[in-house]
Amino acid sequence: MNQTTQLLLLILAATIGIIAMLLIIRRQGRERSAAESESPYATSSEGQKRCPSCGAYNAWTDRNCVTCRRKLPG
Ligand SMILES: [Zn+2]
Repeated sequence: MNQTTQLLLLILAATIGIIAMLLIIRRQGRERSAAESESPYATSSEGQKRCPSCGAYNAWTDRNCVTCRRKLPG
């Protein structure tokens, strides 16, 4: 293996490392913005609560979603 090949391999490895790092940073940013953004569904409307997880309508007295059994807000 000559020096040029070694140099090319080094550059290749560095490039892969940078790309992997960028992908990780982008994924972290997306997860953070997804966690911060509000649910697309309104939490309540006309005596009904809409599940933030699956969007199913529940009576406002329900503590848990009838469809996915998750805890409802409020
Ligand atoms: Zn649900």
